[in-house]
Amino acid sequence: MKRYKIPFIKPDFPAAEDIAKDYKEILAANWFTNFGPFEERFSKKIANYIGEEYYACTLSNATAALLASILAVLGKGDGTKYVLMPSFTFVAGAAALTWCGYKPLFIDIENKGLHMDIDQAEKAINEGGDNIAAILFCNAFGVGATDIEAWESLAASKNVPLIIDSAAGFGSLYSSNRKVGGAGKCEIFSFHATKPFAIGEGGAVVSRDSELIEKIISIQNFGFNGGGNAAYLGFNGKLEEVNAAIGLRQFERFSNILEGRRRVWRAYQQGLPPKFKLQKNAANASLCFAAVLAPDEDQRDTSLKNLIENGVEAKTYYNPSIHKQSYYKNFDRYSELTVTNDIDSRILSLPIHDNMSDDDLKLIIDTLND
Ligand SMILES: *Cc1c(COP(=O)(O)O)cnc(C)c1O
Repeated sequence: MKRYKIPFIKPDFPAAEDIAKDYKEILAANWFTNFGPFEERFSKKIANYIGEEYYACTLSNATAALLASILAVLGKGDGTKYVLMPSFTFVAGAAALTWCGYKPLFIDIENKGLHMDIDQAEKAINEGGDNIAAILFCNAFGVGATDIEAWESLAASKNVPLIIDSAAGFGSLYSSNRKVGGAGKCEIFSFHATKPFAIGEGGAVVSRDSELIEKIISIQNFGFNGGGNAAYLGFNGKLEEVNAAIGLRQFERFSNILEGRRRVWRAYQQGLPPKFKLQKNAANASLCFAAVLAPDEDQRDTSLKNLIENGVEAKTYYNPSIHKQSYYKNFDRYSELTVTNDIDSRILSLPIHDNMSDDDLKLIIDTLND
């Protein structure tokens, strides 16, 4: 594997001494998983972070959180109904829907925020009627969609549940007074080592609906609702105590983490040539990386090549979009996905680290200005 001078992701974890203290506590309590004291505190912190009126539960990763949320909101499907989702996202949502017995129906995106196109989604619902079971909205790269209220209105007016995959977006804002995490039926987060809020493997679901969260807790614990009775189709998706301990430590560091990441984004915003466009509302995001649109595919490919030659690990997420990946290439799509294909050809993902040196930033910005 090539070693880059500037890796794409540079996980930033709490100090070993701090986790050692927590681990001693875990050993003393002799409680390693199954909703122990660290997990209890961590899930409460997550809920409080989003807002007073919210409930939250943790899971072993965001894919488990997607599976449990879909099962809790919709129940297991019989393989005939569709759920609207973008193709321009990470594959986990499409996999989770398929495992749960729903067919992803790929909807195109808009070219500013890179989120699902609401007009196309509305048409798909009007034409699909009862065959549309839900909307799986995705906050692309964890950046909050500025039109999230319109999505909530659409879901309410059509009586279709809105589930939101905000995996990379813990710490992001929809707008100055609304955090990502508080919209729709529920929102899903990932705390994977590559996300801005990193604990290793981990995930969470946040909702206003305490009963829904209770149901998701049952589903991730084999479906048990007390007394060893499986009331739901469940699986094992629980978070371990040691990961919850890392999460509590990350909360102490999180405002610095966010500030460090936004500083890098602002440097890109100021330093990149104007022909490169940054994703709308990314200034308010937690920024797993910076999504940048080149004017055309040639420019993107040249820039990518120059970055890599200079030791910068840049990427092209989410290219290939899901509908181009071999398992999903025959899945249904509502349209030609023209914008998705265009964005795939022009997207460039630039590294953002919590503490990126001025020299590293300069190397990236100078390379793109050449
Ligand atoms: C990272 C990511 C996931 C998967 O998260 P895991 O915790 O690794 O399961 C799902 N959806 C999106 C949009 C992601 O970015």
